[in-house]
Amino acid sequence: MVSFNDELENRLLKMKEKGLYRTLKTMQSAPETEVDIDGRKQLVCSSNNYLGLSNDRRLIRAAQNAVETFGVGSSGARLTTGNTLLHERLEKKLASFKKTESALLFSSGYLANIGVLSSIPGKSDVILSDQLNHASIIDGCRLSRAHTVIYEHINMADLEKKLEDTGQYERRFIVTDGVFSMDGTLAPLPEIMKLAEKYKAYVIVDDAHATGVLGKTGGGTSEHFHVHPDIIIGTLSKAVGTEGGFVAGSHTLIDFLRNHARTFIFQTAMSPAICTASYTALEIIGKSTEKRSRLFGAIEEITKRLKDMGFNVKGGMTPIVAVLIGDSTKAVSFSQRLQSKGIYTSAIRPPTVAEGQSRIRITITSEYKDNEIERILESFYVTGKEMKVI
Ligand SMILES: *Cc1c(COP(=O)(O)O)cnc(C)c1O
Repeated sequence: MVSFNDELENRLLKMKEKGLYRTLKTMQSAPETEVDIDGRKQLVCSSNNYLGLSNDRRLIRAAQNAVETFGVGSSGARLTTGNTLLHERLEKKLASFKKTESALLFSSGYLANIGVLSSIPGKSDVILSDQLNHASIIDGCRLSRAHTVIYEHINMADLEKKLEDTGQYERRFIVTDGVFSMDGTLAPLPEIMKLAEKYKAYVIVDDAHATGVLGKTGGGTSEHFHVHPDIIIGTLSKAVGTEGGFVAGSHTLIDFLRNHARTFIFQTAMSPAICTASYTALEIIGKSTEKRSRLFGAIEEITKRLKDMGFNVKGGMTPIVAVLIGDSTKAVSFSQRLQSKGIYTSAIRPPTVAEGQSRIRITITSEYKDNEIERILESFYVTGKEMKVI
């Protein structure tokens, strides 16, 4: 009999052969635009810290003060001893930020998605889920007792057909990323809302990448499109610069989740210091458009020039930009060559994206200096030529 470890080794070997093996990189300094990674300075193009808030002095000071007053850990679940006024203040802020009646914190966006999808749609319901939705939505659907139907990525004709085909279910839920994490494309929320109205479905939007970025005040895709989905899910771990997730919606929705979402009920509350840092971040995002305009300036410059060089580029509306390479081994080697030039990006491969769709995924931050943008573009150009991608 093959030993347990040998069996796992064989499975890992298969991943290595396909260029799908993953390893950790060690960050040896704070999340600035340039970070010491595995002992080497790299210009980071794959961070979710879109507005540079993770290492902002104002957030650090807010967290330090909260640690002094409230301690380090929250000591319990929200429904037991973990709830502080800092949690409640942040939830009020999130509700006003998302223009909803109420909001509820979860320990992560992942757990918010799982909490919603496993508690609200029931056995006699159906969830219609975009083909490219985030893993946490997929897992939420798996944990739900509802039936799941996948519709083709942002294909409204396919969604409509599947709505027509699912009339036998008691309730229908359409769930979508607001911004798709691997392409940087936006979900067509106005069309989704129209279909939902026509077929009496509810809409759940996971706005992880848009929160703090899109919309006039950074409110996300709902603000950008001026729509009001039934349930908005978000994370504090991207543009907001901290960690934790949330759900925003009606008082009744939040009351229901407080009583039914297992990932809320049975999880230790976020630390008060993270609540305060997040609150401070939302104040900064709400008060000033400066970081957002710098971010969009950088997005425009980088996407336009990569396209001009001849790369096949997806995105441009959000901080996520995908440069298509195709073959997974080639994508890995492209990113390694960029790293040897001091540019840190990630190669995205199956199963995260479809076979033949491997890519270099760049994420952009408002904090890049002009010369850093030039370095990124120059390295892409040289590597693209070296590898005959352009
Ligand atoms: C990052 C992300 C999440 C997970 O959020 P965490 O707070 O990191 O758990 C969920 N959904 C989408 C679309 C994401 O991009």
